[in-house]
Amino acid sequence: MIKENVKRILEELPKGVILVAAAKTRTVEEILEAINAGVKVIGENYIQEAMRMFEVIGNKAQWHFIGKLQKNKVKKAVKIFDMIETVDSVELAREIDKRCCEINKIMPVLIEINSGREPQKSGVLPEDALEFVKEISSLPNIRIVGLMTMGPFAGDPEDARPYFVETKKIFDKIKKLNLPDVEMRYLSMGMTNSYQVAVEEGANLVRIGTKIFGMRNYK
Ligand SMILES: *Cc1c(COP(=O)(O)O)cnc(C)c1O
Repeated sequence: MIKENVKRILEELPKGVILVAAAKTRTVEEILEAINAGVKVIGENYIQEAMRMFEVIGNKAQWHFIGKLQKNKVKKAVKIFDMIETVDSVELAREIDKRCCEINKIMPVLIEINSGREPQKSGVLPEDALEFVKEISSLPNIRIVGLMTMGPFAGDPEDARPYFVETKKIFDKIKKLNLPDVEMRYLSMGMTNSYQVAVEEGANLVRIGTKIFGMRNYK
């Protein structure tokens, strides 16, 4: 099942769009099946779970952190992740920078945009994104490589489109400025129900869980 699902999605995605398999709550076996079918990037929300997986899977895939990162977990996170997609505060950026400095690593990061302007959601507000990028871009051990957004959870994928459009606008605006130490290369938008719309609006990283692995029971 997983194998067929991955193959179908990979065939469908336009060239240059990277599939991130959102792996929360899945087993090592399920993830390995996805990797064997062609998944190159695993997305993880939880550090403990990711560390367990990483012990077995290691560098058979790249690891992107896509959850809410607690400051006290950063030290562990920087050891295994190849990218952190959810940077949304100066404090978090500084902690990543500090912990990466200790292990002599430069961490590619995406800035998470709260495109729905939802008070309970993480992410930088669209109007604050540029200032935020400028503020953290000089940290030597992180490298800003793009933006990520969730958008409000919606049943109809069309409802997500305006939020993807807005995030792409911010992406283009920042890209045009050619800021030092800022590379607008990756735009991470879209999940199982919305990735087609996200790709139409310029996403080149899509984070897909359910459509690869089936329904989740919890979380
Ligand atoms: C779980 C998750 C996804 C994937 O969600 P599906 O609807 O299962 O595809 C994508 N992005 C993030 C940040 C997630 O936590």
